[in-house]
Amino acid sequence: MPTAQIEIAPQTNIKELVKLLPVATDVLKQFGLGCPGCGVSGYETIEQGARSHGLRVEPILTALLVAQQSGKVPAIAEADRMPQRRAPGAFTGRANIAHIVPVMSGKGGVGKSLVTALIALGLRRKHLQVGILDADITGPSIPKIFGLRTPMRIEPDPHRTNAQGQPQPLMTPVLSRSAIEIVSANLLTEQEDTAMVWRGPILSGVIRQFYEQATWSALDFLLVDLPPGTSDAPLTILQSLDVDGAVLVTMPQALATMIVRKCANLIHQLKRPILGVVENMSYFIAPDTGTRYEIFGPSYAEEVATLAQAPVLARIPIDPRKAALADEGAVEEIDDPVCDTLASALLEAVSAHPKPPETISLI
Ligand code: ADP
Repeated sequence: MPTAQIEIAPQTNIKELVKLLPVATDVLKQFGLGCPGCGVSGYETIEQGARSHGLRVEPILTALLVAQQSGKVPAIAEADRMPQRRAPGAFTGRANIAHIVPVMSGKGGVGKSLVTALIALGLRRKHLQVGILDADITGPSIPKIFGLRTPMRIEPDPHRTNAQGQPQPLMTPVLSRSAIEIVSANLLTEQEDTAMVWRGPILSGVIRQFYEQATWSALDFLLVDLPPGTSDAPLTILQSLDVDGAVLVTMPQALATMIVRKCANLIHQLKRPILGVVENMSYFIAPDTGTRYEIFGPSYAEEVATLAQAPVLARIPIDPRKAALADEGAVEEIDDPVCDTLASALLEAVSAHPKPPETISLI
């Protein structure tokens, strides 16, 4: 009889549970909880996992207890598998998001998307509700690194109509394994993708729609993965959303200071702070000898931070393992203290720059 000796209770840690009771992985999967294999599960109880996925905990506990007794996955009622916050009609037409933090970089390829994901994982490890709006429309890589392939569900928005009186589309963010809500151009079906014209003013319109016309839950943080540079898209986001301030991702190159000056000017003009600077690919530690190499040259993190008038949130080394997991679509399997460092530093920066209470989102 496969009765593993682990107590099944709301406070039971998910990772411990699946280690001692492998059938639990299949039970949780039935509830759409793909988290047992991800890094966040080591920090999450069954109750927290249920809550973060918008599910009731009782049916999950019952199913796990039955599986513990029988060794088999029991039948699960459809209603118990349905995330409650996504019940039709539950969306009020206005996103209720505590903090909006765009992630910027002066140029592509510095690891902005990976850093966005690491911050999101760190925030999830602190049991916060997190979403990522992938605004890098021309090179959307967030769904790929999270291994998401199922497109977003799109239905008519009961709260919004166009000039002709027809309902606007309403997107349902895709939930990642660790319950991060994701909206991206890469999660539109092929048909919708080709129907969209990703050019000029439409591009900023699309980003706005991704915010406005998506059923985001009440999130603690919405991270916005911006296209690189200081073009229209970052401007639109910074102007039209009630952002707390931006995170700037750089690499150790002399050029970075120039780029940062541009980004910093842009953000400061809009009267928003830079919350912090992340220097990615900062150095490399040889796994065999432990020797530290500055592959891209000496760190400019402090100089960049001074320019940006913001703290260094973290310096992240070159790590082929992280890159490999991201490439495989398993970024959530990264279980690295840098996630906590980033999240803690961001939380501190956000509380050091409270949004003025009279600020009202334009949306
Ligand atoms: P961006 O969003 O700035 O264009 P990405 O996040 O897509 O950049 O990263 C570009 C490439 O660099 C990806 O293949 C990613 O896995 C890799 N990469 C990013 N950061 C690191 C790192 N710290 N160590 C190793 N590879 C990294």
